[in-house]
Amino acid sequence: MSLSQEVRNPSGPYPSRSRWDAIVVGCGVMGASVSYNLARRGVRVLNIERFGVNHESGSSHGRTRIIRLAYYEDPRYVPLLRRAFESWKEIESKSGKKLLRMTGGLMIGKQGGELVDGVMKSARAHGIPYESLTASEVRSRFPAFNPGDEFSAVYEQNAGILSAEESVRAFVGLASEAGCEFRFSEEVRGWKSGPEGVEVETTYGRQVAGKLVLCAGAWNGGLLKGIVPLQCERQVPLWFSSEGQERYAPTRMPVFIMEEERGVFFYGIPDVGHGVKVARTHGGEISEPDEVRREVTESDVAPVRAFISRRLRDLDGPPIASTTCIYSNTPDMNFAVGVHPGDPRVTILSACSGHGFKFASVLGEVTADLVTGAKVDYDLSFISPGRFRKSKTG
Ligand SMILES: Cc1cc2nc3c(=O)[nH]c(=O)nc-3n(C[C@H](O)[C@H](O)[C@H](O)COP(=O)(O)OP(=O)(O)OC[C@H]3O[C@@H](n4cnc5c(N)ncnc54)[C@H](O)[C@@H]3O)c2cc1C
Repeated sequence: MSLSQEVRNPSGPYPSRSRWDAIVVGCGVMGASVSYNLARRGVRVLNIERFGVNHESGSSHGRTRIIRLAYYEDPRYVPLLRRAFESWKEIESKSGKKLLRMTGGLMIGKQGGELVDGVMKSARAHGIPYESLTASEVRSRFPAFNPGDEFSAVYEQNAGILSAEESVRAFVGLASEAGCEFRFSEEVRGWKSGPEGVEVETTYGRQVAGKLVLCAGAWNGGLLKGIVPLQCERQVPLWFSSEGQERYAPTRMPVFIMEEERGVFFYGIPDVGHGVKVARTHGGEISEPDEVRREVTESDVAPVRAFISRRLRDLDGPPIASTTCIYSNTPDMNFAVGVHPGDPRVTILSACSGHGFKFASVLGEVTADLVTGAKVDYDLSFISPGRFRKSKTG
């Protein structure tokens, strides 16, 4: 059955109760990746997704995401990222889809900010090549940008663009080929561990599996009953026309993040055929995932246009496209990936806080290793789901 047929034909009731080696909840990029990685290890896996592939209510839809290596957020992500790059290339060759386009990455900020110092710290810790640039060097080398002299920048070659929805499709296609069964338009309403395994209650009945993997994005909070405190934050990426302007082509413009003031970040992606993507990251409205305001209004657009008029050249004009998307933030903005602290049958893959997409290739592998009891060679302590548990000694 083709992917589009599966999406058009929502699941019906199960003929009878089935037993699976593993059930994966959610088919955003994380659920799709772990489903593929489990199925290719020979695990009998069922993926249950409330909506369809690349629906617009979660975090994984849209055309593009940034991938980069010298990670300002925390150098401990770098070993995972090295494997993520390799693994994306493997997915490209297995799926026959071009998913990754290298453009280089430009991180611009002021002295004493989080971004530029963080990139250099990561780069030095892991021997990643980078170049430090003054604002005037940025302006002459990358003519899309117009930072004031108070800014400096770091350029790294190891950065680029992932095709977001194509990546999800690639994982789903490969997972299906490897034997994973997908059930779309079906919601997981709850789960509990019982003598037979993990019992999962869905819109259409009850399923039992040896293992459960929770990849429900911002909805993980509800399914985890507070084990991982997640906050759902609304985001609005916008696209602007760069018609006739070579400076915004991916051959001339790197992906970028700019820290305008401490903690105030904008980012952008060159024009790969549908406009230049520019957005503010974080600073969005907090709500329940099912109550996110979906209309895009002038209050979303105005701060981004003001940023563009200050920092990018000749990109004036209203956006040509927009969407809403959600971040699922943990209190420390790191992911929550690992075995459920109270139930060894359940594994959590909650990798957002606004920066998870690039990791989907490697975290699908790591999570499949955790589920199957294989050895994991990465330091996952800083993203352990158990870190939010209050210590008993107070
Ligand atoms: C605007 C925006 C820009 C971003 N930019 C970048 C970037 O440049 N680089 C980067 O690395 N990352 C980026 N990210 C983050 C990245 O997109 C996320 O980390 C990633 O998409 C999270 O995927 P997910 O599978 O965990 O969540 P989702 O894509 O939300 O998937 C979760 C799925 O679970 C399903 N589900 C939920 N509850 C249930 C249930 N009860 N039963 C069945 N199914 C259920 C949902 O329908 C959904 O499809 C960005 C995110 C946003 C919003």
